[in-house]
Amino acid sequence: MIITKKREVQELIENIKNYKSFFLLGCSECATLCGTGGQPQLDEMEETLKAEGKEVAGKFVAKTGCQVLGTKVELKPFKEALDNTDCILVMSCGAGTQTAVELFEDKPVYPTNDSIFLGNMTRMQFFDERCSLCGKCILDKTGGICPVTACPKGILNGPCGGCKDGKCEVSPDIKCAWVRIYERMKRLDRLQELCENTLEAKDWSVSIKPRILVARESKK
Ligand code: SF4
Ligand code: SF4
Repeated sequence: MIITKKREVQELIENIKNYKSFFLLGCSECATLCGTGGQPQLDEMEETLKAEGKEVAGKFVAKTGCQVLGTKVELKPFKEALDNTDCILVMSCGAGTQTAVELFEDKPVYPTNDSIFLGNMTRMQFFDERCSLCGKCILDKTGGICPVTACPKGILNGPCGGCKDGKCEVSPDIKCAWVRIYERMKRLDRLQELCENTLEAKDWSVSIKPRILVARESKK
């Protein structure tokens, strides 16, 4: 899921100081789990805006804010409110914000959140970054632990010389990613494989942005 955190309210108020009425658009997926764009946060934002003398013409939590066509259909019943609003505030991730930019070309659209990383939720509202979306996964070679992400240096054949007592020299409060990989491979009885195979330098050309994927197979 995409991990988001709320921006400072003062920064937001400064951004929108020239507008009077707003439509609030949340997302029922990642932003709801992050506590940044679910119904309670939309209600809270409405109160904040009203306290600033602003108006809220409408608000809606989209099912999946990064799904452009689905969001377009869901917003049809809100046409009048959207037509009459000065500005749309998107309370999801940067992808959700750009859905609104695409759907409402003539309206100003502002994000209320910062999008931080792709993460796993380990318990309620605790998130870990475990994948950097590098474009060519090597988890099959590393026992399922990602050194590109879990090692601050992204070392592919570690550990580096700074590993001390199993901890990372860059972030001493975390276990060295390569110690974790070693322990996992040992548990799986795959240490020989780890010793014999050197990981090749990654091909970063597969992660040049912006990336596009057409997953639908063409009919012949
Ligand atoms: S190697 Fe790491 S960053 Fe790359 S796709 Fe796999 S988990 Fe993600
Ligand atoms: S100590 Fe381990 S996790 Fe930290 S930078 Fe070195 S190899 Fe990476």
